[in-house]
Amino acid sequence: MEVTANTLDRGFYMYQEEFEQKALEVLRSGWYVLGREVGSFESEFAAYIGCRHCVGLASGLDALWIAFRILGIGTGDEVLVQGNTYIASVMGITMNGATPVFIEPDEYYNLDPSKLEEKITPRTKAILVVHLYGQASYMEEIMKIARKHNLRVVEDCAQSHGAKFGGQMTGTFGDIGCFSFYPSKNLGAFGDAGAIVTNNDKIAEDVRIFRNYGSEKRYYNKVVGANSRLDELQAGLLRVRLRHMAELEAQKRHICERYLRELDRDRFQLPEIREGATHIWHQFVIRSERRDELAEYLKSRGIGTLIHYPIPPHLSEAYRHLGFREGAFPITEHYARSVLSIPLYYGMTEEEQDYVIHWMNQF
Ligand SMILES: *Cc1c(COP(=O)(O)O)cnc(C)c1O
Repeated sequence: MEVTANTLDRGFYMYQEEFEQKALEVLRSGWYVLGREVGSFESEFAAYIGCRHCVGLASGLDALWIAFRILGIGTGDEVLVQGNTYIASVMGITMNGATPVFIEPDEYYNLDPSKLEEKITPRTKAILVVHLYGQASYMEEIMKIARKHNLRVVEDCAQSHGAKFGGQMTGTFGDIGCFSFYPSKNLGAFGDAGAIVTNNDKIAEDVRIFRNYGSEKRYYNKVVGANSRLDELQAGLLRVRLRHMAELEAQKRHICERYLRELDRDRFQLPEIREGATHIWHQFVIRSERRDELAEYLKSRGIGTLIHYPIPPHLSEAYRHLGFREGAFPITEHYARSVLSIPLYYGMTEEEQDYVIHWMNQF
């Protein structure tokens, strides 16, 4: 038997007819960028998140760097961000010339609020909160600190569509929530797509203008913007998937509850969920001190795994100029050496799960 880490076509076949119908509808419409489908998706996603505005963009990275650009955060400013995030979060900061200040994660793989205040300086302008792997961060504490020090809060929700803290949706705590709809995300398109959400009318308007070359009215350009437009095809396909989110969320929850019940806790460190937080299971991440050996062993039995992420941003070649050495962030680095994401995808069968659980527990 072969079980890959992720099998994206299963998620397509679940609603094949609806996806194909929508694709044809858009292709035949004669309107392909920023049209009715984008407008409808923006309203429907804003309603799903429970906030006033959603502005569709071309990717999650665009959502991040445009968020900081619109907030006026750039050269000379510092942004606090957890060290074990995907590197795109950090690029969203540095593309504006601002400096990332790394914070060690907690045992839930999210930003540890107790380590925030010691890193705040007069240059600190914002906190970028990443709800990693699908679990909401400890927003109560983070927002308390942000308010006390008058910091902006941007949420990277690329992995947390629908996750909540204290009953409130991630993406609605801070000034701006940034989403990616990359195909493997919980709400995935069939290509690149992203969005920002906000309750602030001015921010929404500024992003709307910025994404289309800085123009509100065609050929009247108010600012030097970007081309970060969401296309009609992706927006239409996202609308189809969004209609089924409750069912899709339940399916992943069912798979992960089984992993939590049946995987051997003496062999692996299984994910834990913070009180007050919900987890939407973008990834099911375990930890093992023999991680590389475990991945090889599973591979030899036809089971695919992934590592999110093997090289933390502060040690990547791209950020060598920041001058960090190995040992600078021990918890972040320990996670990079020991985390492993096991197979999880929409449409995963019981047999495939049996197979993964059986072989994992024989390790
Ligand atoms: C996927 C991801 C991004 C980037 O999204 P893209 O749409 O690929 O640009 C940013 N941050 C996190 C945490 C992600 O997982």
